[in-house]
Amino acid sequence: MGTPHVLAIPYPAQGHVIPLLELAQCLVTHGCKVTFVNSEFNHKRVVNALSDKDHVRSHINLVSITDGLEPWEDRNDLGKLTEAILKVMPGKLEELIEQVNRSDSNKITCIVADASMGWALEVAEKMQIIRRAAFWPAAVAIFALGMSVPELIDDGIIDSDGTPVKNQVIQLSPTMPLMSTENFPWTCFGDLTTQKIILNLNSRNNKAIEVAHWMISNSSYELEPAAFALFPNVLPIGPLLASNRLGKSAGYFWPEDSTCLKWLDQQPAHSVIYVAFGSFTVFDCIQFHELALGLELTNRPFLWVVRPDITEEMNDPYPKGFKDRTAKRGRMVGWAPQQTVLSHPSVACFVSHCGWNSTVEGISTGTPFLCWPYFADQFFNQSYICDVWKVGLGFNRDESGIIKQAEIKDKVEQLLGDETFKARALHLKEVTAKTVKEGGCSRNNFNNFVKWMKE
Ligand code: UDP
Repeated sequence: MGTPHVLAIPYPAQGHVIPLLELAQCLVTHGCKVTFVNSEFNHKRVVNALSDKDHVRSHINLVSITDGLEPWEDRNDLGKLTEAILKVMPGKLEELIEQVNRSDSNKITCIVADASMGWALEVAEKMQIIRRAAFWPAAVAIFALGMSVPELIDDGIIDSDGTPVKNQVIQLSPTMPLMSTENFPWTCFGDLTTQKIILNLNSRNNKAIEVAHWMISNSSYELEPAAFALFPNVLPIGPLLASNRLGKSAGYFWPEDSTCLKWLDQQPAHSVIYVAFGSFTVFDCIQFHELALGLELTNRPFLWVVRPDITEEMNDPYPKGFKDRTAKRGRMVGWAPQQTVLSHPSVACFVSHCGWNSTVEGISTGTPFLCWPYFADQFFNQSYICDVWKVGLGFNRDESGIIKQAEIKDKVEQLLGDETFKARALHLKEVTAKTVKEGGCSRNNFNNFVKWMKE
């Protein structure tokens, strides 16, 4: 039989593009052809940031369709982005599939769609793409929560708009970790309109994934046994990351500043605090200053990712004199090669916003965490890190909601002064490495998935 031709389509956000592109690279290695569909806006950024990673462009057909927004519109407004996607992308995807099938003798045989892009599975069904899979790039516990929305409404835990009726802690099953209604991901937007759009998207996706034959996730049984027990039709194939081929992952929206690797080489083993908050987090000036002063106060070397858009004040966002005072032991970059940084022997701990990709990257490299969640699923990921796997600590906020410099220093000391965090982190690293190696659970699922694509 011919080579399977997979069309892969992520939700247009950084934390979705990276793991699906990683999966795409794995599929190529296993003999599939992949056409990867980014939004036009993200496609440009990804291609710009690829620089020397030509292996990606030569192995994967990177294409794009519009996300329905104008180039200058705000893509961090997820309500608006979602509405535009639903309105415009299905038609554009249909056209793209027709065009690819016209020009390529190897027609598209499979689709792997982000589970947040359920409509793409419907398009695939309509266009008779016979092998359909949904990919869940986050914690399966969060998928389980999304699937449970109708029950949460029936049980009076949330109202029909998704707003919690009261603040409480729930469990989706007796073995599942506790979940606080305050942190339900769809409630994080601060406005009811967006909340309703996201909740509607959730219910539409839950229906759409019924036309998928496989539901795979970037997680593992070892990390989330209870969530997989609750939804046994979701199969883990992760953690997917370029752990054995560092530097090869791609899909970044910002160019990596890899000069920090040389700087890391010069730091003592297990000394550096790595600080990064993913692609979305935004700081107000007060909190940004407090973080800078907290890092200064630790008196340790630090590598801090300060994205060009991380605060509103970008001229010189740092406290007065901070850069001079910390020049000898602090390093700021716009975007780091994070997976390589976390694998570096100089790194001692990871101050993280607990996005799922950052979470599995920290786990896979045996790095203890200091958790600083910002929104959506990050609060729940923090409970996995601190309460379930016990490989990190959270920060306390003061009465005005600020994490103060002294708190930052204290928690760094506490984490690095207690070797049991590192010991548990190393154990989890081993467990997750095993599951993606030949013979491991995630690897078996992945192999079966590829076999099915080739049938
Ligand atoms: N990342 C990176 N360099 C940075 C910051 C982040 O390569 O300086 C990557 C990180 O390795 C992860 C992704 O960006 O793969 C962020 O995804 P995550 O789910 O952690 O957070 P999100 O951006 O979705 O909030």
